Amino acid sequence: MTSTDPAPSQDLAGLTALVTGGGSGIGAATARLLTARGARVAVLDRDPAGAPEGTLAVQADVTSDEGVRAAVAEAVGELGGLHILVGNAGIGAIGTVEDNPDDEWQRVMDINVLGLVRTARAALPHLRKAAESRPGTASITHTCSIAATAGLPQRALYSASKGAVLALTLAMAADHVREGVRVNCVNPGTADTPWVGRLLGQAEDPAAERAALNARQPMGRLVSADEVAAAIVYLASPAAASVTGASLAVDGGMQGLRLRPA
Ligand code: NAD
Repeated sequence: MTSTDPAPSQDLAGLTALVTGGGSGIGAATARLLTARGARVAVLDRDPAGAPEGTLAVQADVTSDEGVRAAVAEAVGELGGLHILVGNAGIGAIGTVEDNPDDEWQRVMDINVLGLVRTARAALPHLRKAAESRPGTASITHTCSIAATAGLPQRALYSASKGAVLALTLAMAADHVREGVRVNCVNPGTADTPWVGRLLGQAEDPAAERAALNARQPMGRLVSADEVAAAIVYLASPAAASVTGASLAVDGGMQGLRLRPA
Protein backbone atom coordinates (compact mmCIF):
# COMPACT_ATOMS: atom_id res chain seq x y z
CA MET A 1 0.00 0.00 0.00
CA THR A 2 1.39 3.43 -0.94
CA SER A 3 0.28 6.96 -0.10
CA THR A 4 -1.29 7.20 -3.56
CA ASP A 5 -3.69 4.32 -2.83
CA PRO A 6 -7.34 5.24 -2.36
CA ALA A 7 -8.66 5.53 1.20
CA PRO A 8 -8.08 2.25 3.08
CA SER A 9 -11.21 0.18 2.94
CA GLN A 10 -13.53 -1.58 5.34
CA ASP A 11 -14.95 -3.52 2.40
CA LEU A 12 -14.29 -7.19 3.17
CA ALA A 13 -15.47 -8.72 -0.11
CA GLY A 14 -13.43 -11.81 -0.94
CA LEU A 15 -12.14 -12.20 2.63
CA THR A 16 -12.86 -15.02 5.08
CA ALA A 17 -13.27 -14.81 8.85
CA LEU A 18 -13.65 -16.98 11.93
CA VAL A 19 -15.24 -15.61 15.12
CA THR A 20 -14.99 -17.59 18.36
CA GLY A 21 -17.89 -17.12 20.75
CA GLY A 22 -19.91 -15.90 17.76
CA GLY A 23 -23.09 -17.52 19.03
CA SER A 24 -24.01 -14.63 21.33
CA GLY A 25 -23.37 -11.01 22.31
CA ILE A 26 -20.27 -9.26 20.97
CA GLY A 27 -19.18 -12.27 18.87
CA ALA A 28 -22.57 -12.60 17.16
CA ALA A 29 -22.66 -8.84 16.46
CA THR A 30 -19.15 -9.09 14.98
CA ALA A 31 -20.04 -12.08 12.79
CA ARG A 32 -23.11 -10.16 11.53
CA LEU A 33 -21.11 -7.04 10.68
CA LEU A 34 -18.29 -8.99 9.00
CA THR A 35 -20.94 -10.70 6.86
CA ALA A 36 -22.61 -7.37 6.04
CA ARG A 37 -19.24 -6.01 4.88
CA GLY A 38 -18.91 -8.87 2.41
CA ALA A 39 -16.76 -11.46 4.25
CA ARG A 40 -17.59 -15.15 4.36
CA VAL A 41 -17.81 -15.95 8.06
CA ALA A 42 -17.60 -19.03 10.30
CA VAL A 43 -18.62 -19.01 13.95
CA LEU A 44 -16.91 -21.31 16.46
CA ASP A 45 -18.92 -21.71 19.64
CA ARG A 46 -19.61 -24.37 22.24
CA ASP A 47 -23.25 -23.43 21.76
CA PRO A 48 -23.51 -22.22 18.13
CA ALA A 49 -27.34 -22.14 17.96
CA GLY A 50 -27.23 -18.32 18.03
CA ALA A 51 -24.76 -17.97 15.13
CA PRO A 52 -26.11 -15.26 12.79
CA GLU A 53 -27.86 -16.20 9.58
CA GLY A 54 -25.52 -16.56 6.63
CA THR A 55 -22.59 -17.74 8.76
CA LEU A 56 -21.17 -21.25 9.02
CA ALA A 57 -21.73 -22.52 12.57
CA VAL A 58 -19.09 -24.90 13.93
CA GLN A 59 -19.51 -26.47 17.35
CA ALA A 60 -16.34 -26.60 19.47
CA ASP A 61 -15.17 -25.80 22.98
CA VAL A 62 -12.03 -23.65 23.10
CA THR A 63 -10.76 -25.74 26.03
CA SER A 64 -10.14 -28.66 23.65
CA ASP A 65 -7.03 -28.36 21.48
CA GLU A 66 -8.23 -31.23 19.30
CA GLY A 67 -11.72 -29.73 19.01
CA VAL A 68 -10.37 -26.29 18.07
CA ARG A 69 -8.03 -27.77 15.45
CA ALA A 70 -10.87 -29.74 13.88
CA ALA A 71 -13.20 -26.71 13.93
CA VAL A 72 -10.60 -24.41 12.34
CA ALA A 73 -9.85 -27.04 9.68
CA GLU A 74 -13.59 -27.39 8.93
CA ALA A 75 -14.05 -23.60 8.70
CA VAL A 76 -11.01 -23.13 6.46
CA GLY A 77 -12.14 -26.02 4.25
CA GLU A 78 -15.64 -24.57 3.84
CA LEU A 79 -14.59 -20.92 3.46
CA GLY A 80 -11.58 -21.66 1.27
CA GLY A 81 -9.00 -19.94 3.52
CA LEU A 82 -8.74 -17.63 6.51
CA HIS A 83 -7.86 -13.92 6.55
CA ILE A 84 -9.48 -12.74 9.79
CA LEU A 85 -9.53 -14.41 13.21
CA VAL A 86 -11.58 -12.86 16.00
CA GLY A 87 -10.71 -14.49 19.35
CA ASN A 88 -13.70 -13.50 21.42
CA ALA A 89 -15.02 -16.51 23.38
CA GLY A 90 -14.75 -15.77 27.08
CA ILE A 91 -16.53 -16.04 30.40
CA GLY A 92 -16.86 -13.82 33.46
CA ALA A 93 -15.86 -14.43 37.06
CA ILE A 94 -16.84 -12.52 40.17
CA GLY A 95 -14.91 -12.30 43.41
CA THR A 96 -11.72 -11.42 45.25
CA VAL A 97 -8.70 -13.75 45.43
CA GLU A 98 -10.26 -15.24 48.56
CA ASP A 99 -13.47 -16.22 46.80
CA ASN A 100 -12.36 -18.41 43.89
CA PRO A 101 -10.57 -21.73 44.47
CA ASP A 102 -7.72 -22.96 42.26
CA ASP A 103 -9.91 -25.05 39.99
CA GLU A 104 -12.07 -22.01 39.16
CA TRP A 105 -8.89 -20.02 38.33
CA GLN A 106 -7.77 -22.84 36.07
CA ARG A 107 -11.17 -23.09 34.37
CA VAL A 108 -11.40 -19.36 33.58
CA MET A 109 -7.77 -19.04 32.46
CA ASP A 110 -8.26 -22.14 30.29
CA ILE A 111 -11.14 -20.49 28.41
CA ASN A 112 -10.17 -16.80 28.43
CA VAL A 113 -6.43 -17.14 27.79
CA LEU A 114 -5.53 -20.62 26.56
CA GLY A 115 -8.65 -20.63 24.37
CA LEU A 116 -7.12 -17.75 22.38
CA VAL A 117 -3.74 -19.51 22.24
CA ARG A 118 -5.27 -22.73 20.89
CA THR A 119 -7.33 -20.88 18.27
CA ALA A 120 -4.37 -18.77 17.11
CA ARG A 121 -2.10 -21.83 16.93
CA ALA A 122 -4.58 -23.60 14.65
CA ALA A 123 -5.27 -20.50 12.54
CA LEU A 124 -1.79 -19.00 12.06
CA PRO A 125 -0.63 -21.24 9.17
CA HIS A 126 -3.76 -20.17 7.24
CA LEU A 127 -3.37 -16.49 8.20
CA ARG A 128 0.23 -16.53 6.95
CA LYS A 129 -0.96 -17.92 3.61
CA ALA A 130 -3.59 -15.16 3.41
CA ALA A 131 -0.94 -12.52 4.17
CA GLU A 132 1.25 -13.86 1.40
CA SER A 133 -1.44 -13.95 -1.26
CA ARG A 134 -3.17 -10.68 -0.22
CA PRO A 135 -0.90 -8.45 1.89
CA GLY A 136 -2.69 -6.31 4.48
CA THR A 137 -5.62 -8.69 4.95
CA ALA A 138 -4.45 -11.09 7.69
CA SER A 139 -5.28 -10.24 11.29
CA ILE A 140 -6.17 -11.50 14.73
CA THR A 141 -8.35 -9.38 17.00
CA HIS A 142 -8.95 -10.36 20.61
CA THR A 143 -11.83 -9.25 22.80
CA CYS A 144 -10.03 -8.10 25.94
CA SER A 145 -11.64 -5.78 28.56
CA ILE A 146 -11.05 -2.58 30.51
CA ALA A 147 -10.54 -5.05 33.37
CA ALA A 148 -7.05 -5.63 31.90
CA THR A 149 -5.84 -2.19 32.98
CA ALA A 150 -8.32 -0.81 35.53
CA GLY A 151 -8.49 -1.99 39.12
CA LEU A 152 -12.07 -3.21 39.27
CA PRO A 153 -13.44 -4.50 42.59
CA GLN A 154 -14.60 -8.12 42.80
CA ARG A 155 -12.91 -9.07 39.54
CA ALA A 156 -9.50 -10.52 40.57
CA LEU A 157 -9.69 -13.65 38.43
CA TYR A 158 -11.44 -12.04 35.46
CA SER A 159 -8.99 -9.10 35.49
CA ALA A 160 -5.97 -11.41 35.69
CA SER A 161 -7.28 -13.36 32.70
CA LYS A 162 -7.83 -10.19 30.64
CA GLY A 163 -4.45 -8.75 31.71
CA ALA A 164 -2.97 -11.93 30.24
CA VAL A 165 -5.00 -11.39 27.04
CA LEU A 166 -3.56 -7.88 26.67
CA ALA A 167 0.03 -9.09 27.17
CA LEU A 168 -0.58 -12.03 24.84
CA THR A 169 -1.91 -9.66 22.16
CA LEU A 170 1.22 -7.48 22.36
CA ALA A 171 3.62 -10.46 22.30
CA MET A 172 1.80 -12.05 19.36
CA ALA A 173 1.81 -8.73 17.49
CA ALA A 174 5.62 -8.67 17.83
CA ASP A 175 6.03 -12.31 16.82
CA HIS A 176 3.94 -12.11 13.66
CA VAL A 177 4.43 -8.55 12.37
CA ARG A 178 7.04 -9.61 9.80
CA GLU A 179 4.74 -12.37 8.60
CA GLY A 180 2.11 -9.80 7.71
CA VAL A 181 -0.30 -10.90 10.45
CA ARG A 182 -1.55 -8.01 12.61
CA VAL A 183 -2.67 -8.66 16.20
CA ASN A 184 -4.81 -6.19 18.16
CA CYS A 185 -7.47 -6.15 20.85
CA VAL A 186 -10.55 -4.20 21.83
CA ASN A 187 -11.20 -3.32 25.45
CA PRO A 188 -14.94 -3.03 25.99
CA GLY A 189 -16.43 -1.45 29.06
CA THR A 190 -19.71 -2.93 30.28
CA ALA A 191 -21.44 -4.02 27.08
CA ASP A 192 -25.14 -4.79 26.87
CA THR A 193 -24.99 -8.50 25.99
CA PRO A 194 -26.83 -11.62 27.21
CA TRP A 195 -23.96 -12.07 29.67
CA VAL A 196 -24.70 -8.75 31.40
CA GLY A 197 -28.42 -9.59 31.17
CA ARG A 198 -27.73 -12.80 33.11
CA LEU A 199 -25.78 -10.90 35.79
CA LEU A 200 -28.52 -8.29 36.18
CA GLY A 201 -31.09 -11.08 36.31
CA GLN A 202 -29.50 -12.30 39.55
CA ALA A 203 -30.12 -8.95 41.29
CA GLU A 204 -33.07 -8.49 43.64
CA ASP A 205 -34.44 -5.71 41.42
CA PRO A 206 -32.92 -6.13 37.91
CA ALA A 207 -34.47 -2.89 36.55
CA ALA A 208 -33.10 -0.81 39.44
CA GLU A 209 -29.70 -2.53 39.10
CA ARG A 210 -29.64 -1.72 35.36
CA ALA A 211 -30.53 1.92 36.06
CA ALA A 212 -27.71 2.13 38.64
CA LEU A 213 -25.27 0.52 36.19
CA ASN A 214 -26.22 3.02 33.48
CA ALA A 215 -25.81 5.89 35.93
CA ARG A 216 -22.23 4.78 36.72
CA GLN A 217 -21.21 5.10 33.04
CA PRO A 218 -19.75 8.44 31.86
CA MET A 219 -22.24 8.46 28.97
CA GLY A 220 -25.10 7.37 31.21
CA ARG A 221 -25.56 4.16 29.22
CA LEU A 222 -23.85 0.86 28.49
CA VAL A 223 -21.84 0.21 25.35
CA SER A 224 -23.75 -1.86 22.76
CA ALA A 225 -22.50 -5.13 21.30
CA ASP A 226 -22.76 -3.54 17.82
CA GLU A 227 -20.46 -0.68 18.90
CA VAL A 228 -17.81 -3.15 20.08
CA ALA A 229 -18.26 -5.14 16.85
CA ALA A 230 -17.66 -1.99 14.79
CA ALA A 231 -14.28 -1.51 16.50
CA ILE A 232 -13.33 -5.17 16.01
CA VAL A 233 -14.28 -5.04 12.33
CA TYR A 234 -12.25 -1.85 11.83
CA LEU A 235 -9.16 -3.49 13.39
CA ALA A 236 -9.73 -6.60 11.25
CA SER A 237 -10.16 -4.66 8.00
CA PRO A 238 -7.57 -3.40 5.48
CA ALA A 239 -8.43 0.11 6.77
CA ALA A 240 -6.26 -0.80 9.79
CA ALA A 241 -3.42 -2.22 7.68
CA SER A 242 -0.84 -0.25 9.72
CA VAL A 243 -2.38 -0.99 13.11
CA THR A 244 -0.84 -3.79 15.16
CA GLY A 245 -0.17 -4.22 18.88
CA ALA A 246 -2.99 -1.77 19.59
CA SER A 247 -5.73 -1.95 22.20
CA LEU A 248 -8.83 0.09 21.44
CA ALA A 249 -11.09 1.06 24.34
CA VAL A 250 -14.82 0.96 23.54
CA ASP A 251 -16.02 1.89 26.97
CA GLY A 252 -17.99 5.14 26.74
CA GLY A 253 -15.03 6.96 28.31
CA MET A 254 -14.94 4.78 31.42
CA GLN A 255 -11.17 4.44 31.47
CA GLY A 256 -9.90 7.64 29.93
CA LEU A 257 -12.16 10.28 31.43
CA ARG A 258 -11.79 11.83 34.85
CA LEU A 259 -15.16 13.50 35.34
CA ARG A 260 -15.61 16.10 38.06
CA PRO A 261 -18.14 15.00 40.67
CA ALA A 262 -21.54 16.51 39.80
P1 NAD B 1 -21.84 -13.82 25.87
O1 NAD B 1 -21.95 -14.73 27.06
O2 NAD B 1 -23.05 -13.12 25.38
O3 NAD B 1 -21.18 -14.62 24.65
C1 NAD B 1 -20.04 -15.43 24.83
C2 NAD B 1 -20.06 -16.55 23.80
O4 NAD B 1 -18.86 -17.32 23.99
C3 NAD B 1 -21.25 -17.51 23.98
O5 NAD B 1 -21.85 -17.76 22.71
C4 NAD B 1 -20.62 -18.76 24.55
O6 NAD B 1 -21.30 -19.97 24.18
C5 NAD B 1 -19.20 -18.70 23.97
N1 NAD B 1 -18.27 -19.45 24.80
C6 NAD B 1 -18.04 -19.31 26.13
N2 NAD B 1 -17.16 -20.24 26.55
C7 NAD B 1 -16.82 -20.95 25.46
C8 NAD B 1 -15.95 -22.06 25.25
N3 NAD B 1 -15.30 -22.64 26.28
N4 NAD B 1 -15.80 -22.56 24.00
C9 NAD B 1 -16.49 -22.02 22.96
N5 NAD B 1 -17.35 -20.98 23.11
C10 NAD B 1 -17.51 -20.47 24.34
O7 NAD B 1 -20.71 -12.79 26.28
P2 NAD B 1 -20.23 -11.38 25.67
O8 NAD B 1 -20.61 -10.35 26.64
O9 NAD B 1 -20.60 -11.24 24.25
O10 NAD B 1 -18.64 -11.57 25.80
C11 NAD B 1 -17.80 -11.84 24.70
C12 NAD B 1 -16.38 -11.44 25.06
O11 NAD B 1 -16.38 -10.07 25.42
C13 NAD B 1 -15.76 -12.19 26.25
O12 NAD B 1 -14.41 -12.49 25.97
C14 NAD B 1 -15.85 -11.18 27.38
O13 NAD B 1 -14.83 -11.37 28.35
C15 NAD B 1 -15.66 -9.89 26.62
N6 NAD B 1 -16.17 -8.70 27.32
C16 NAD B 1 -17.50 -8.57 27.59
C17 NAD B 1 -17.93 -7.42 28.26
C18 NAD B 1 -19.40 -7.21 28.59
O14 NAD B 1 -19.68 -6.31 29.40
N7 NAD B 1 -20.33 -7.94 28.02
C19 NAD B 1 -17.02 -6.45 28.64
C20 NAD B 1 -15.67 -6.62 28.35
C21 NAD B 1 -15.26 -7.76 27.68
